[in-house]
Amino acid sequence: MSSDDVIGIGYLVAAALFILGLKGLGKPRTAVRGNQLGALGMFVAVLVTLLDRDIVSYWQLAIGMAIGAAVGVLLALRVEMTSMPQLVALFNGFGGLASVLVGAASFFEAVGRGNDDLQVSLAAALTAWIGAVTFTGSLIAFTKLQEVWDGLPIPAARIVNITLSVAALGLAIAVVAQPDQRLWFWLLVAVAAVSGVTLTSPIGGADMPVVIALLNSFSGLAAAAAGFVLDNALLIIAGALVGASGLILTAIMTKAMNRTLIDVLFGDGPASGGGLDADEVYAGKVTSTSADEVAMLLDTAERVVIVPGYGLAVAQAQHAVRDLTKALEANGSEVVFGIHPVAGRMPGHMNVLLAEAEISYDALVEMDMVNPTFEQTDVAIVLGANDVVNPVAREPDGPIAGMPILDVDNARVVVVIKRSLSPGFAGIPNPLFAADNAMMLFGDGKAAVVEITKALAEV
Ligand code: NDP
Repeated sequence: MSSDDVIGIGYLVAAALFILGLKGLGKPRTAVRGNQLGALGMFVAVLVTLLDRDIVSYWQLAIGMAIGAAVGVLLALRVEMTSMPQLVALFNGFGGLASVLVGAASFFEAVGRGNDDLQVSLAAALTAWIGAVTFTGSLIAFTKLQEVWDGLPIPAARIVNITLSVAALGLAIAVVAQPDQRLWFWLLVAVAAVSGVTLTSPIGGADMPVVIALLNSFSGLAAAAAGFVLDNALLIIAGALVGASGLILTAIMTKAMNRTLIDVLFGDGPASGGGLDADEVYAGKVTSTSADEVAMLLDTAERVVIVPGYGLAVAQAQHAVRDLTKALEANGSEVVFGIHPVAGRMPGHMNVLLAEAEISYDALVEMDMVNPTFEQTDVAIVLGANDVVNPVAREPDGPIAGMPILDVDNARVVVVIKRSLSPGFAGIPNPLFAADNAMMLFGDGKAAVVEITKALAEV
């Protein structure tokens, strides 16, 4: 068997492992195995790539892998669970940059050898375009999620974005028409990089999940396009899998926000604060409560729904919540968790956290299933959630109009646990906190839940 055959078979095995891994990731119960199969696939892919003596010297590979592995290990050890979404944004961005660099090197080399057929130049143009948008767009998404910078103010963002997209299309055509002119390629990279900034900067508040999913998909599509430039089947398959799963996730997220992709990408962005004045919304109408009072309410509750949000992740309250759930169940209450698709800061954030505390998957109920049950719910506990329970979404002209929410206000009593009245990620005041059937338990999510559990034992 020639080494080409071994490489071909190895790539096939790796691709099959990626597909099986993705299938496993589709269900919480099989997700860990799916992840392991995907990692095994990547291991096989790296091993087989090392057999391909054409690529680059082993020394260069070893140095690159050592640096990459060191950064990876450091990040895995140091990054907090709450910063995982930012890390994912960075990974997407660097994936895009890597595709641009690999695509450029191999395109120029192919053109140098006289191979400038349509497949190579078209794939190179797509790699440059998608990869550069992904790189700068992801960096802006990172700064927004990290809350260090909110992006550039872009006046008339829609016009700017459409103009830049048309310019990028023109340059992509130039790359295909004149592959030997490197200037077109680098101009395309530059315009695409600027449009990554102008596309992502105005996207504010609650629309971020859609952007994260879309950039993830773009990083895959850029890799697939680079695979066509390199003529590497595995890169094409792996890139296409990431691209397609990212697009499916984008569709799920857009539906969960009741937005269209065009609206998110080419809209002028919502006004910050949505024109609502916090003082007016809350003035004299907020009732605060104590852990003892909440424990008394819970003691007689037959059905309790807990709605987790980003604050649960910040407080790392998942284990405390599991203990409260057990205590409530021992006391005869039925307890379920109402999960909003965009709760937290990344898709599936709440499921991951609650699974870490070994809370049964059966207790996690999706938004559409849990919403009709709030009327029969005695106590809804909103734990570090804000935007996903904001009734402003029901107002047709509001800043998050149409975003489906968890209808906690239909429960008999709503207990909101958070540290203050400050807004969530979308920056909008929440009239739920001033509702007649709502009580605020101010404090850190974990400490509050621990106190409630203690008080419940003493009731
Ligand atoms: P929000 O960001 O709306 O609200 C979280 C709340 O948690 C804050 O109001 C904060 O209030 C509270 N909080 C923070 N720390 C603590 C703590 N230690 N203890 C108790 N409470 C705490 O979160 P949601 O989950 O309701 O909504 C998610 C938002 O994030 C949506 O706008 C969504 O669009 C966006 N988003 C989602 C992504 C995804 O993929 N899921 C990705 C990017 C953004 P206080 O400071 O008063 O304590």
